[in-house]
Amino acid sequence: MKIVKNIDELRKDLNVYRSEGKSIGLVPTMGYLHEGHASLIRRAREENDIAVVSDFVNPIQFGPKEDLNTYPRDLEADSKLCEEIGVDFIFAPEASEMYHDRKAFVDIEDMSNNLCGAKRPGHFRGVSTVCTKLFNITGADRAYFGQKDAQQVAIIKKVVADLNIPIEIIPCPIVREDDGLALSSRNTYLSKEERKAALCLSKAIFKGEELAKSNASVSEVLEKMKEIISSEKLTKIDYISAVDLATMEDAKDFDGDRLVAIAVFIGKTRLIDNFIYRA
Ligand code: AMP
Repeated sequence: MKIVKNIDELRKDLNVYRSEGKSIGLVPTMGYLHEGHASLIRRAREENDIAVVSDFVNPIQFGPKEDLNTYPRDLEADSKLCEEIGVDFIFAPEASEMYHDRKAFVDIEDMSNNLCGAKRPGHFRGVSTVCTKLFNITGADRAYFGQKDAQQVAIIKKVVADLNIPIEIIPCPIVREDDGLALSSRNTYLSKEERKAALCLSKAIFKGEELAKSNASVSEVLEKMKEIISSEKLTKIDYISAVDLATMEDAKDFDGDRLVAIAVFIGKTRLIDNFIYRA
């Protein structure tokens, strides 16, 4: 396994494999890898000749008051995990390598007006830009994304379709702790008490999904989820919404494919979770 920090070097290395007709699988991450990331990386390893993991805390997807400076980083531990899985390349550039004189961005209309897009202005512009750069740098055949960030998956699929980027976007299921909490690098911020309180997210998601499947209305589902989360003291709801899975527009019924997504502050830590309802 090789750790590469330089764009041209990675391009050159991967060109060799591409010219031999080898397939390349990419897993974009911000590092501090956990089992959620590992599930994507294993899949990329299985389905491609060459597996590339990017490990880059992307500054332009953080808002001015967000946790860019405190975001956890541990390239050594990440390398160990990637090595165990059999990754070929970790791409871990400095921010200056990725953005020395940034003037061009990839933006997405409408789909970023709701959910995390509405609450985190500029976030999906940053995500769409870094992913497009990573797709161009690696020339990967497939890229693996977690459904944990479901709006991200929908947006990246649309970016790839609209900009004709020749890459297949592969969504992977949410990996959870045994007690239900969705794995996240940000879980590390939680105190013991907050970790307990954070369970209300998955509880709300599981209950919401059960109700949706038993023909409850959107408002009944969202109300019940709100009730579960609000009954926990340390929480502040950022949003609880049901949207059309393709457009990310608010949905008033379960007549089509839906994303039911939540963002909740537990103390100062903002966590997200969701379920997908298929009509
Ligand atoms: P991040 O490092 O948080 O930007 O995440 C990198 C990738 O891992 C994204 O595609 C995430 O959706 C995915 N991911 C993060 N947490 C999980 C999880 N618990 N289950 C599945 N995928 C995840």
